[in-house]
Amino acid sequence: MTSLNKTSNHYDVIIVGAGAAGLMCAITAGQRGRRVLVLDHANKVGKKILMSGGGRCNFTNMYSAPENFICSNPHFVKSALSRYTPWHFIELVEQHQIAYHEKKLGQLFCDNSSKDIVQMLLRECDAAGVTIQTDSPVQVLETDELKLLESPQGRLQCDSLVIATGGLSIPKMGATGFGFELARRLNIPVLPTRAGLVPVVLDDHKLKPLVELSGISVDTVTETDSCSFRENILFTHRGLSGPAILQASSYWQPGDALKIDMFPDIDLTAYLTEMRREKPKTALKTLLADKLTRRVAQLWCEQWIEDKPVGQLSDSDIEQVVSHCQPWTVKPSGTEGYRTAEVTLGGIDTDALSSKTMACKDHPGLYFIGEVVDVTGHLGGHNFQWAWASGHAAGQFV
Ligand SMILES: Cc1cc2nc3c(=O)[nH]c(=O)nc-3n(C[C@H](O)[C@H](O)[C@H](O)COP(=O)(O)OP(=O)(O)OC[C@H]3O[C@@H](n4cnc5c(N)ncnc54)[C@H](O)[C@@H]3O)c2cc1C
Repeated sequence: MTSLNKTSNHYDVIIVGAGAAGLMCAITAGQRGRRVLVLDHANKVGKKILMSGGGRCNFTNMYSAPENFICSNPHFVKSALSRYTPWHFIELVEQHQIAYHEKKLGQLFCDNSSKDIVQMLLRECDAAGVTIQTDSPVQVLETDELKLLESPQGRLQCDSLVIATGGLSIPKMGATGFGFELARRLNIPVLPTRAGLVPVVLDDHKLKPLVELSGISVDTVTETDSCSFRENILFTHRGLSGPAILQASSYWQPGDALKIDMFPDIDLTAYLTEMRREKPKTALKTLLADKLTRRVAQLWCEQWIEDKPVGQLSDSDIEQVVSHCQPWTVKPSGTEGYRTAEVTLGGIDTDALSSKTMACKDHPGLYFIGEVVDVTGHLGGHNFQWAWASGHAAGQFV
């Protein structure tokens, strides 16, 4: 082994990945007096934070709870989430006087810009004495008691090595399989990965008539085989997106259908039967447009349902209408994949990690935090809450 200058090349903690989880871990460890170095191969830190929440970063969710996470062991998230709650992060945001608001359903966004969150994390890193190096691709050479890394700064040693390199989504933003590859090399189990919180695509045959609806949203209850979400869907030029579809995509399996109730608050059969009596001269299209928008109602009538005054609808006509709306059943041909996915499902098997410290059970001093781990949050700030909580958990022990 090369002889190293202990003072300059040795760190108590090296964290690979200067995203949400890595920076939170660095702050927590730095505050404990540890000598911390964060390395990132990208040219700036926190790129996903910057692009998140449409540029306003949905940095947490007030109601974040274990039920909001997908993990092969649903109990795994409990320890970290209970020790670093959304209120801890909100307190930090308030200390830095960052203006924020609740958009809906407990989702907290910056009033101004995601940059506020990155600046806050960098200020906290600075105060905790953390060193951050960007443009620093690394190789892990040894993971024994003393860990050895090759970096543009030369060979580096550390006692604790934290992998916070995130998942595979948005490769353009610097996502890599670094964490998964290292784990495989060390025989740490990695559960199969796939894109989550991602728009679905429809094959040409199903898409063609819908393309002209691109950009229109409809309030729905969207259901997969295992769960349902009350949110909007959005028609896109490739298929469907919007919060309901993104949420459902994390549970959707190839070949499955999505059941989309386009009239979530009403029993459509009863409603049409009543309208047949009350407003017999009203066109079906007009009635549907009240809820679906004019363009969606028109297209539904052109494609699948015959438009006529509701007074002329037979019981079987009503059945026909309902069968295309409550639910509208649609079978995606796939998803848009990692190119546009917000998250990666699967990853480092939580069975290999301590839920308290995020340390590898079989590799003392090696930690995995954030999205690289098989923990995926629902849409709405839960993924950052996992990044903060898991980063904080490891930061207390590294
Ligand atoms: C478009 C978009 C919008 C999103 N919006 C939200 C939102 O509003 N709210 C929410 O809760 N979640 C949101 N998410 C999800 C959220 O961004 C992630 O869950 C979160 O960033 C994961 O944090 P992390 O630190 O684990 O990984 P990341 O933030 O991805 O950080 C990983 C870091 O590791 C670095 N890295 C990768 N490979 C290497 C390597 N080989 N060597 C060195 N460094 C490496 C990367 O450059 C990156 O800086 C969004 C995601 C996307 C893509």
